[in-house]
Amino acid sequence: MDGIVERHSPGLDELGKVARHDLARLNYPPANWVPEKNGPDGKPVLDVLIVGAGMCGQTVGWGLLREGIRNIRVIERNRHGQEGPWNTTARMPTLRSPKHLTGPDLGVPSLTFRAWYEAQHGAEGWEKLYKIPRLDWLSYLLWVRKVVDLEVENGVSLLKVETAGDFLQASLSTGETIFVRKIVLANGRDGSGGFRWPSFPSFDPDDPARAGRVHHTLEEIDFAAFKGKRLGILGVLATAIDNACTALEAGAREAICYARRPHLPQVNKSKGVSFPGFQRGQGMLDDDWRWKIYTYMLAAGSPPPHESVLRAQKLPGFAFRFSEPWLDVKIEKDGVTVTTAKATERFDAVLIGTGFDIDLARRPELQSFVANVTLWGDRRAQTEASANAEAARYPYLGPGFELIEKVPGRTPHLGDIHLFNWGSILSHGALAGDIPGLFVGATRLVQAISHSLFRQDVERHFQRMVDLEDPELAPTDYFVPRDKRAGTL
Ligand SMILES: Cc1cc2nc3c(=O)[nH]c(=O)nc-3n(C[C@H](O)[C@H](O)[C@H](O)COP(=O)(O)OP(=O)(O)OC[C@H]3O[C@@H](n4cnc5c(N)ncnc54)[C@H](O)[C@@H]3O)c2cc1C
Repeated sequence: MDGIVERHSPGLDELGKVARHDLARLNYPPANWVPEKNGPDGKPVLDVLIVGAGMCGQTVGWGLLREGIRNIRVIERNRHGQEGPWNTTARMPTLRSPKHLTGPDLGVPSLTFRAWYEAQHGAEGWEKLYKIPRLDWLSYLLWVRKVVDLEVENGVSLLKVETAGDFLQASLSTGETIFVRKIVLANGRDGSGGFRWPSFPSFDPDDPARAGRVHHTLEEIDFAAFKGKRLGILGVLATAIDNACTALEAGAREAICYARRPHLPQVNKSKGVSFPGFQRGQGMLDDDWRWKIYTYMLAAGSPPPHESVLRAQKLPGFAFRFSEPWLDVKIEKDGVTVTTAKATERFDAVLIGTGFDIDLARRPELQSFVANVTLWGDRRAQTEASANAEAARYPYLGPGFELIEKVPGRTPHLGDIHLFNWGSILSHGALAGDIPGLFVGATRLVQAISHSLFRQDVERHFQRMVDLEDPELAPTDYFVPRDKRAGTL
């Protein structure tokens, strides 16, 4: 983990001024328009609680401020600079995405990654840049957050959400219990489930004996401890390979990546659907199309970036073993025995690179709601759901990324929980997880929250309109005081 993530340079200082001026020209931030409400404790209710200040959470936060929804809090369980994977569990030198992607800027040119990079390295530096260094992306995100003045409460976790009368009630790690109108779960790729652990007869991921012997590739790992060691890695996709490389570069003797499949997946299908029509349109399609598209996408898998494979190919001690699934993993005192379909192997440690699982039942925050959340499996024929068990576990979200009750009325305000993480892809496409869809996703979510808050208060807004008095014509000869006007206006 690197500690230094914030960059300072005269160029960036200057760009900060330009960006703030651009924001001022856009009248940012506009006044808050959402009427104040009091909760059962007599205190003002929070309009939106955003959980997670990674790329998605901070972009939604800045989108809400820009929309004039300012009574919000953004909480983040990690400390400043440790948000998201970039400085914690990501182990690739550069992003997979092309450098020109936009998203966290929400359409403001001076807030793009390119502007940030050029401010430090000039136009020539930008031309020379091949892909975005991982920590640059994090530094850039933190810079955007600072310029748009989004306050983030680091070191604060959401523990539990429940219904409380007209509101939701959120329990935080600070000991606070707060009443809120909307919750946005921007809690990352595992935010709709958790690590995917394969099931083996002799292995239990909760076994304390796995410490130092069996790691998930998305955990924090002490790679220095692998010096001179032999590692087995289950998985051949990006994260598995980057973990193998990191281990070898830290002095491991051997790192072997295993797959059931006979070769690497070859085509990144999501690259081909990274255009506005798909991003905007997927969520508008009927269920049959959405199901067809994403069950195909999930089954297709995604190749590791060629940069990761080239990195691995150069390292002595690296190997792929295809068509060799693991059948069992047994932790022993001095190592791990892995039974594969072809052999019995001894490793000093193994890494499980099988990614994340979608399963809301695993989310402690949502326990009081989870039994009543509509899933895609509830909307498909039994045969289709059984044939696509993973897809069937994805939540079936409404048009504003909101959870939907299975039995209406049983869990009031479930629909005020908006799921802005990877669990939303079947319903909306990849709008809350990857950079390319972020602009469309954050904008859609912000508009939906804006609409919903307005709709809930429409009577108050109407009354305000009726009560509104504005002496526009007072400076003229034609001003008529209210008590002398004809009609009701
Ligand atoms: C290794 C890796 C490489 C990637 N590379 C690319 C790439 O090249 N291009 C691309 O488009 N996408 C990439 N992605 C996908 C995606 O862009 C990232 O996962 C990105 O971080 C998603 O942003 P996020 O805000 O949804 O999640 P995160 O950045 O993970 O942020 C979620 C935040 O929520 C916080 N949190 C979770 N639970 C709680 C809680 N209960 N209370 C408070 N805070 C909480 C977490 O601490 C975290 O900081 C990559 C993902 C990974 C894992």
